[in-house]
Amino acid sequence: MIVVMSEQASADDIQGVETRLAELGCSVHRSQSAGHVILGGVGPSTVDSQDLTSLGGVREVIRLSAPYKLAARAFKPEGTRFDVGDVEIGGAEVVVMAGPCTVENEEQVESVAALLARLGVKIMRGGAFKPRTSPYSFQGHGELGLKMLRTAAQRHGLLVVSEVMDAAHLDLACDYVDIVQVGARNMQNFSLLKAVAKANKPVLLKRGPAATIEETLLSAEYLLSGGNPRIVLCERGIRTFETATRNTLDLSAIPVLKALSHLPVIADPSHGTGRREAVVPMARAAIAAGADGLLLEVHPKPELALCDGAQSLLPDQLDTLLTQLRAIAPIVDRRL
Ligand code: PEP
Ligand code: MN
Repeated sequence: MIVVMSEQASADDIQGVETRLAELGCSVHRSQSAGHVILGGVGPSTVDSQDLTSLGGVREVIRLSAPYKLAARAFKPEGTRFDVGDVEIGGAEVVVMAGPCTVENEEQVESVAALLARLGVKIMRGGAFKPRTSPYSFQGHGELGLKMLRTAAQRHGLLVVSEVMDAAHLDLACDYVDIVQVGARNMQNFSLLKAVAKANKPVLLKRGPAATIEETLLSAEYLLSGGNPRIVLCERGIRTFETATRNTLDLSAIPVLKALSHLPVIADPSHGTGRREAVVPMARAAIAAGADGLLLEVHPKPELALCDGAQSLLPDQLDTLLTQLRAIAPIVDRRL
């Protein structure tokens, strides 16, 4: 932490900052540059720069280390890998999770499960608790949806990932899912994160639509510090000025997150673009950019989908995409 004092700072101001730094557990080094006193505080990386900015005579506080610790790459330089059933996440193999936006009926999930099994996709997605922008939109089938998803997945030997929006539904969901999804709009629902940290299930943590990379890693830090090390981060697009796409898929977040953190990172080009024709090229690009996997929406009849049909791949498109990814993966030392 470096605190640059203003030129007008009094001796008392400087002493005040030195005392505060010491209280925060930092050793203090004073120097002078171009009329400014500069105080270097060396201490715990959890010190919040906000604790110093409002003190008298402070011009600027520059933080040198990240505020997250357990999520930092330095904590586990070799990277995190973990197994979910027979699938390794964060390993050499690129992991594809695919399925409908929402579970609609038995016929739909059965059709998707059969497709995924035929194409070699091992993890099925499908929302039962849906975070919809409008209260009038389909909200999901809840437990019935989880049941349909699990039954179809079981029949075809697939694993299941599904979103939990409320800590009150977590235990129920854990009876049906292999991976708990924390949705983008809940990335900073801290009480949900604390509850999910205690669940004995891996977590798919989606980046918030307006969350910085640092905020995303601090949300992961909630899970890690709460006791859950099995986390996969998901870049799903952020809100920008652009309206031609539903969100702006921040592909640069993939290498940046992987450099800053040891956690696996996947990309969701479905929500990241909102347009079927953009999903395939962005999925290819995400794998080329080093993503550990993909979250993809696919629907047997997207034109009839209750949710997100416009961004859902047709079964044949998923088939073609997987063939292409099998060619791209080895170029970046991965397999599919
Ligand atoms: C989803 O993946 O089902 C979803 C709702 O996405 P997001 O949370 O990224 O909006
Ligand atoms: Mn969706």
